[in-house]
Amino acid sequence: MRIVLLGAPGAGKGTVAKSLTDFDGSVQISTGDILRNAVKAGSELGMKAKGFMERGELVPDDLIMDIMEVRMKEPDCQKGFLLDGFPRTIPQAEALRKLLEKIGIKLDAVINLDVPTDVILDRLTTRRTCSNPDCQEIYNIKSKPPKADGTCIKCGSPAVQRADETEDAITKRLATYNEKTAPLIDFYEKEGLLKTISSLSSEEIVEQVKAAVK
Ligand code: AMP
Repeated sequence: MRIVLLGAPGAGKGTVAKSLTDFDGSVQISTGDILRNAVKAGSELGMKAKGFMERGELVPDDLIMDIMEVRMKEPDCQKGFLLDGFPRTIPQAEALRKLLEKIGIKLDAVINLDVPTDVILDRLTTRRTCSNPDCQEIYNIKSKPPKADGTCIKCGSPAVQRADETEDAITKRLATYNEKTAPLIDFYEKEGLLKTISSLSSEEIVEQVKAAVK
C-alpha cells in the first residue's frame, strides 16, 4: 500500500505504521526516526535538525525534501510505503505530489488519525521509545509498559522519554501541528484521498486502513 498517515503527535501514526508493515511488506518511512538517528549519529543533517526538534518546531522543508527525494527512490519503496510524519506542511505536500508524479506513483489514501487533545497529551507524557535506532519500539507506561527495569521487550535497550517530550516541547509541537500540518486535511480532502479514522485502538485503525486501501 502507498499511504500517508496524518495526525497530531501522539495520534498513533508510528504504532499503526509498524503494524501495517507486518501486514504487506510496505516500508514505514518516519522522518522523525530518520532525523533522530541523524542527531544521534552527529551527522551534518543531525546537527542542522537538532535545535528545531528539541524546541518542538518543524525542521525546514528543504532539508526534509532532500531526505525524502533520496529515500523514496530506494528499491524497498517499490513494494509500498507508509509515510509517517511526512508531509507536515503544504509545501512538503506539494513537493511530494511532484516527486510522486516524477517517479510515476499514485497514493492509495491519506489516513487522518483524529484523536482528542486530552488523549494526545496523556499519551505523549506517558510514552517511552526504545533508544536503539534499529528498533525504536514504542511503549506506554500505562497501557504497554517496557520491562520492569525500563528496557525494551524486543531488544533489551533502554526505553526512554524522547527529548521533545517535555511539557514545553509537547505544547509547542501541538501548536505547530495545528498551524502547519492540520491544513493538509483540507488539501488531501480536495484531492479525494482523505479518509478520517476516529478510533482509539490501533488494532481497529489497522483494520480500517486495510479496508480503505482494498
Ligand atoms: P515525529 O517523531 O514525527 O513526531 O517528529 C519529531 C520531530 O522531527 C518533529 O517535532 C520535527 O521537529 C521533526 N520532523 C519530523 N518530520 C518532519 C517533517 N516532515 N517536517 C519537518 N520536521 C519534521
